[in-house]
Amino acid sequence: MTNDRSEHGTGRVGQVKEVTSLTNPIIKDIRALTQKKHRDETRSFMAEGLKLVIDALDLGWKIKTLIYAKAAKGKPHVEQVAAKTFAKGGLVLEVSEKVLSAITRRDNPQMVVGIFEQRYRSLKDLKPELGETYVALDRVRDPGNLGTVIRTADAAGASGVILVGETTDPFSLETVRATMGSVFAMPVARASTEDFIRWQKSAGVKVVATHLAGAVDYRTIDYKTKPVVLLMGNEQSGLPEELAREAGALARIPQAGRADSLNLAIATGIMLFEARRHLLTLDARA
Ligand code: SAM
Repeated sequence: MTNDRSEHGTGRVGQVKEVTSLTNPIIKDIRALTQKKHRDETRSFMAEGLKLVIDALDLGWKIKTLIYAKAAKGKPHVEQVAAKTFAKGGLVLEVSEKVLSAITRRDNPQMVVGIFEQRYRSLKDLKPELGETYVALDRVRDPGNLGTVIRTADAAGASGVILVGETTDPFSLETVRATMGSVFAMPVARASTEDFIRWQKSAGVKVVATHLAGAVDYRTIDYKTKPVVLLMGNEQSGLPEELAREAGALARIPQAGRADSLNLAIATGIMLFEARRHLLTLDARA
């Protein structure tokens, strides 16, 4: 059953749509966002949780639809984000818990979900400056790894994440969840391998590529005299030769024990915070 009703006394310009049926076409459309094809076609993605939605709106992301559980109705923050959604021309849905569970594919869903417009930075618009660090990920496959890298890059004060080649979707539900909100804070660009190599040659950056056979201990590298791009290899096959040979340094994180390699997101975190440690002696702000 779908039922439109006006909200009175809240000063809203729009109308909250009450939806309890899974066959409602708007709900079907939102549920289809679990498919990459549909996300790409609509250039949309879903983010769960009131705090994330508030942060995204504060950061200027375009909200298309706000969905909240009946139980969240009347809560001041929910009312505020609903008003903001209306003000930006978005749709506001008040739904049953069953609908929310189906949308988010969770038994205990968050009370608030936002559907946002995807946003990529163009590689040619990235103009790294001295003191900045970027992460470039070659063909990252795992959504959990990508989300964790975006979150960690945010926490380490990096300026952006560049997706090189065919990668997993930064706007899948799993990736967005793993970013814990950092998807809204961290600029993400994507590029073919050829475009990335062309860009790195002209952008005035030092590419520090990480490699299990790297000749240089990651702690001894100069992270300070140029903006740095930390280049990380694919989970299965590592960094291909065409990317490795173009790098300014091939860094290795010395390991103990029997593990062949570190998890990609862990290795990225180690590199990010090492670069930050070097930079902090240049800039005492953080
Ligand atoms: N089998 C792959 C290989 O041979 O490279 C392992 C890839 S590893 C799981 C994923 C990425 O994490 C690597 O390509 C590299 O960028 C980084 N990495 C992991 N452990 C590392 C280490 N000890 N030193 C430098 N980079 C490392």
